Amino acid sequence: MIKYKLQCKNLHHFESWFRTSDDYEKLNREKMLSCEICGSKSISKSLMSPSVSSKEKKRIKKPLETTPTKAQKLIKELRKEVEKNCEYVGDNFEKEARAIYFGDSPERSIYGKTTVKEAKSLYEDGIPVTPLPWDDRKTN
Ligand SMILES: [Zn+2]
Repeated sequence: MIKYKLQCKNLHHFESWFRTSDDYEKLNREKMLSCEICGSKSISKSLMSPSVSSKEKKRIKKPLETTPTKAQKLIKELRKEVEKNCEYVGDNFEKEARAIYFGDSPERSIYGKTTVKEAKSLYEDGIPVTPLPWDDRKTN
């Protein structure tokens, strides 16, 4: 007995036993074989035998991931939230953060651009600053 992996024209895969390979050829020629799934009589021996498929799989490289990662999605959501709920003060971030902290400006959430130096100086004055995980910084 020989077990063949078979494939119909609709790419269904199934296995069938034959007494000999000639038996398979004869049955298939006479359209005595049909797909177990769709009943198609266009049957051929599947090329998906394990040894071939593992080689095939290695050759076919997965295309580069184009969907955003979970982290990227979270950052995007965070950014949306920040932009919705906070006031954008642009380059005045350091001045404005200080003004809010010392009560010279109305209390609110703001976001904007700082240099590393400005952020450090805010931090040293005890003003809570959170770096946002996207590139929106002053370049100087
Ligand atoms: Zn089928």
